[in-house]
Amino acid sequence: MAPRQGSALAWLRRDLRLDDNAAIGHALSKHGRVFCAFVFDTQILDALESRADRRVDFIWRSVRELRERLRLAGGELIVLHGRAREEVPRLAADLGVSEVVAAEDYEPAAVARDHEVGERLRANGIGLTLVKDTVVFAKSELLTQGGRPFTVFTPYKNAWLKLVGEAELAPRLDEADLKHLARPSHEICLPELRELGFEHADLASGIQAGEAGALQALEDFLARIDRYQEERDFPALGAGSGLAIHNRFGTISVRRLVRAARDRRTAGADCWLAELIWRDFFFQVLHHHPRAAQEAFRPQFARIEWPNDAALFAAWREGRTGYPIVDAAMRQLNATGNMHNRLRMVVASFLVKDLLVDWRWGERYFAAKLNDFDLAANNGNWQWAASTGCDAQPYFRIFNPVSQSEKFDADGVFIRRYVPELANAPVESIHAPWRLSPVDQAAIGCVIGRDYPAPVVDHAIQRERALALYKKARP
Ligand code: FAD
Repeated sequence: MAPRQGSALAWLRRDLRLDDNAAIGHALSKHGRVFCAFVFDTQILDALESRADRRVDFIWRSVRELRERLRLAGGELIVLHGRAREEVPRLAADLGVSEVVAAEDYEPAAVARDHEVGERLRANGIGLTLVKDTVVFAKSELLTQGGRPFTVFTPYKNAWLKLVGEAELAPRLDEADLKHLARPSHEICLPELRELGFEHADLASGIQAGEAGALQALEDFLARIDRYQEERDFPALGAGSGLAIHNRFGTISVRRLVRAARDRRTAGADCWLAELIWRDFFFQVLHHHPRAAQEAFRPQFARIEWPNDAALFAAWREGRTGYPIVDAAMRQLNATGNMHNRLRMVVASFLVKDLLVDWRWGERYFAAKLNDFDLAANNGNWQWAASTGCDAQPYFRIFNPVSQSEKFDADGVFIRRYVPELANAPVESIHAPWRLSPVDQAAIGCVIGRDYPAPVVDHAIQRERALALYKKARP
């Protein structure tokens, strides 16, 4: 091993943990003194709609915990507030480091930012090293036999499972190296959230921020992982791990998650591992096809002329479409920032194929609201639901919101949680309450059109209109 030289700065972004942190681990393996920093980047924060954004609160709490962990290990977390493009080169120069190390981010805006930071650092004779941390296989590490990027999930998953080995999953930080963590000579303060222009949000639905929160969520999930395959599609059961927000901000290492799933060797664990592979899949799609962040992956479907009725879009956003499962899901999203995967598929299909609204409108709304918003996963899944994506469901497959509701929320438990107007609706009517007679509506205290909206569209009619739109766009 080459002797350690000089000092480095580990610039943390979406890797807010110490455990198995690839950027810190890489810097520690090469340098005698390693500083760590996080920037509350005003370029990102200023664009957020809400000053009570739950994600900012989550980040702030996670940063606070990470600072404690670094302090206990003999280091410090330098926390800055400003434009990362300027703050990082300035800090690196002030600290006199020879290298800045960060976990690679594959989102187009982050790639552009890192390019600019790299140029500025280089002008000062400082190197920028980007290391893999967020995914197991990045960019072109996994290609088809013909050397092309994968665009179909199943062969990608098979290749992924075949290639993954101990080297890919080994921890990236050697704890014995922590003695090389360094502290700046001046006192470091963590700005309060209000000083950053934000308020604490209600991190509802049991979300605990930080590395400790992630480890607890993993531990809780491992107790039920074996039931994941059977239970995951039923929103009332809460069978998911709830780890997506932790994956988003890197409060847990994906390698640790994959190891946990592999060690289990049950059908439930295998099924869950496949979801982590979907995550990798969409990262590599975004890397190879960054234009998909703006437009349909399949060019023929970029030609669809969406009617984009603003009133229907508002009804969808606000959970008043008259379709209880859609409304319950959207109200859950608005109230908590979370939505179950099955319901994300249902509401996305409903927006695009029932309300005939451009999938990008829905994608943007999710981006503003989801606690676990991640460009690669959000874009990939919206394009899947809209049938515009690379391995999407066929355009003629259109979810029926009533039968989805009957199948996945049979007793209406989830609907009742978020649509109290239907609290007294009998099980057989809760999925399509407009079918109740006026007398029965009065008897349950929910008159359709007065207490709860009548359906804003007729699914059967809209289905035909959607098919016509897609067919017209095909070559
Ligand atoms: P689990 O079921 O426990 O899955 C484990 C992990 O695998 C998740 O935490 C997540 O990191 C990953 N994962 C699971 N499903 C997918 C998937 N389909 N694609 C990519 N990664 C997946 N997921 C996001 O992380 N961010 C998003 O912005 C996002 N937007 C979505 C938009 C739509 C329209 C749809 C249909 C799905 C979206 N998903 C997104 C995927 C999925 O719904 C969430 O990852 C999941 O609901 C999170 O719950 P969980 O942590 O309990 O997941």
